[in-house]
Amino acid sequence: MKIILNERHHAEQAIAHGKMDKKPTKTLICLAKYGLQQGKNAEDTYVLLNQFMTKYYPDYNAVQWDTFLNRIIKQSQKYIKIREEASKSTLIEIDHVPVTHEELQKIKQLKSKRLEKLAFVLLVYSKINNRINENDTYWINHEWKEIYGDSQMAVSKKDQGLLVHKLIQLGYLKESQRVDSTNVQVLFAVEHGEVAFQLVRFDDFVLEYSRWKGENIKNCTVCGKRMLAKSNRMKYCKECKKAGINPIRKLL
Ligand SMILES: [Zn+2]
Repeated sequence: MKIILNERHHAEQAIAHGKMDKKPTKTLICLAKYGLQQGKNAEDTYVLLNQFMTKYYPDYNAVQWDTFLNRIIKQSQKYIKIREEASKSTLIEIDHVPVTHEELQKIKQLKSKRLEKLAFVLLVYSKINNRINENDTYWINHEWKEIYGDSQMAVSKKDQGLLVHKLIQLGYLKESQRVDSTNVQVLFAVEHGEVAFQLVRFDDFVLEYSRWKGENIKNCTVCGKRMLAKSNRMKYCKECKKAGINPIRKLL
């Protein structure tokens, strides 16, 4: 998932530990919104961004970045103004997304691994969108590439369209009436039902559906990342294994 779901947390982690998104621009936008939202003016927000970059961005050149930082601050000011005028919160702060038993049962009824995974990912995206837009319309406007990436399936472009069409046919989704739009609306959300689990991590989150279906999903004992376990002995994810075991091997 590309969206930063908790912008306050992201900004605080950035300031305290230099944590940065893969795309530094995203962290900068987040910091700008955070600064402005705290009541800083444009000038002080610039200082915040500049200090962050000086401290944590390798080979940072303040002169080269000057126009860009100013542009980010201007855009963020505009964003905050629009959100405030609509009486909406100015920072995205999503910590968890609940999934109900009824929703899971509906997904399971699809009886196709590919459709089920896609439906689950779409459901989560629609709930996140609702939280960001502060409504309950369940519309999704993300790129299919991103959605299929989160569903962890290798699906050809042609099949991507067919799977979505199938969900529309089955009444799980609704297409946008606008010709130029690829937006879809999720129709199978049952928010008021009993919660089966809360999603709190959004990397590999489709595995939470696999876990619910009874697959052997374990959590890395170091970082907590979910993984499909091939054996019960599996304790670490690939990254932690690489980081922890290789240095020891090298010593031997
Ligand atoms: Zn790990």
